[in-house]
Amino acid sequence: MTDDRQHRVAAFLDAHELHAPPAYRLLDLAAEVGELAADATKSSEYGARPDDLQVNRDELGDALFCLYALADELDVDAGAALEESIAKYEARIDDAGAPGSDATE
Ligand SMILES: [Mg+2]
Repeated sequence: MTDDRQHRVAAFLDAHELHAPPAYRLLDLAAEVGELAADATKSSEYGARPDDLQVNRDELGDALFCLYALADELDVDAGAALEESIAKYEARIDDAGAPGSDATE
């Protein structure tokens, strides 16, 4: 069951001949997440003013686009991967009371 959004991104990549190797897609994703971090760093004054944090919706969309594009290039079903991740966190909460991986150590 592939995520409809992943299909939309894949169709966009097809239509505009924008397919690229996964390594490129991973770097693109990192760059977009970096843009989110840069905006957050600036708006919160390096975390000193957390109440002033601003996350730009369009940059969040860019990061999501890149994540779906990476999943597409890797032939990974993003929706299935997300479901597996949620199940993992739920199991950790059930077992250790917290979702973090260090909670089970
Ligand atoms: Mg961007």
